[in-house]
Amino acid sequence: MRENNNTSETIAVFGAGGFIGSHMIEALTATNYKVLAIDVDLKKLAEVLPDSTNVTTIELDITKDREKVEELIKDSDIVVDLIAYANPSIYITDPIGTVTLDLFENLWITELCVKYKKFLFQYSTCEVYGLDNGRNQPFNEEESLLVVGPINEHRWIYSCAKQMLERIVHAYGIKEGLDYIVIRPFNFVGPRIDYLIDDKDEEGNPRVFSHFMSALLLNKPLPLVDGGINLRSYTHIEDATDAFMRILENRQQFNREIINIGTPENETSIRGLAELMIELYNEETGANFSAGTVDIPSEEFYGEGYADCDRRIPDNSKIASLGWKEKYNLEEIFRDAIRYYIKNNEFVTQ
Ligand code: UDP
Repeated sequence: MRENNNTSETIAVFGAGGFIGSHMIEALTATNYKVLAIDVDLKKLAEVLPDSTNVTTIELDITKDREKVEELIKDSDIVVDLIAYANPSIYITDPIGTVTLDLFENLWITELCVKYKKFLFQYSTCEVYGLDNGRNQPFNEEESLLVVGPINEHRWIYSCAKQMLERIVHAYGIKEGLDYIVIRPFNFVGPRIDYLIDDKDEEGNPRVFSHFMSALLLNKPLPLVDGGINLRSYTHIEDATDAFMRILENRQQFNREIINIGTPENETSIRGLAELMIELYNEETGANFSAGTVDIPSEEFYGEGYADCDRRIPDNSKIASLGWKEKYNLEEIFRDAIRYYIKNNEFVTQ
């Protein structure tokens, strides 16, 4: 792990207890930054923090403890904002909650960074690009159009909330001199990604990896929404974290820019992913998984208002210019994640 030489800088990570945050904090323990790890739920961090580190954990709800949030930002040099609902089923079941948290609450963090002149890393999403619409071109930060569906497909509220936040951050850069970098992650996968679900848990609807992993462990068919024809490019969370650490070290070079983190080489259809995960699961456990896959219409799986991104290819030339190259190919990403969930085979419902 690389180390920064500046011992005086404090980095406040909001959303440190989530999937991306917990890996980021783990990487930051090997640096000289003073790290404030802030989340409403710090459970995932317990697994990664050694006894004595440069990290202080702070459990708080940003929507309630506003004075404390302001104080933390004031006392920091760099702010990383990872707070978001980032799960398609939530955009469908709770579109108002999604826009409230992902736009309005985050905007307040942006405004505090403007007020106290802090460098902001705003995590956004590749979902802002929306539909590929058969263009089959990598999504480029400066040139690609952001194309979403009609209002009745309310999945797009997430994409629009994040896009609006990006636009306001950009405007603050122009008008108030805010120093910032917007990160657009493309489908990160790895240990601690999501909770597993069982049949009895009607509330649970995490991302595709957890659905497939749960089905494998329960010997049930893997659900393919609308036939699993859409394409995704996956990145191992360790590679994604390595990209972030490089950007952090080179932040002045990319000040006021948007940066994709993703791996075009690791593209698969969702059906292809199901087949790969079955194969890897059999190899890892010696089982002969026979339940296969089952096709499910999206309205049945997610409810009304679902729409899907057909294809997301990242243009990752910015991180490549920092010497970044992925270490995990598609098979290695999913083998690693499957191993983790086999080892921790207990169903946690939320
Ligand atoms: N999907 C699926 N089966 C599942 C869960 C998701 O076929 O059990 C599909 C979903 O419709 C989408 C893709 O898998 O095409 C990826 O969905 P995910 O929830 O991981 O997030 P996204 O990449 O859409 O943000």
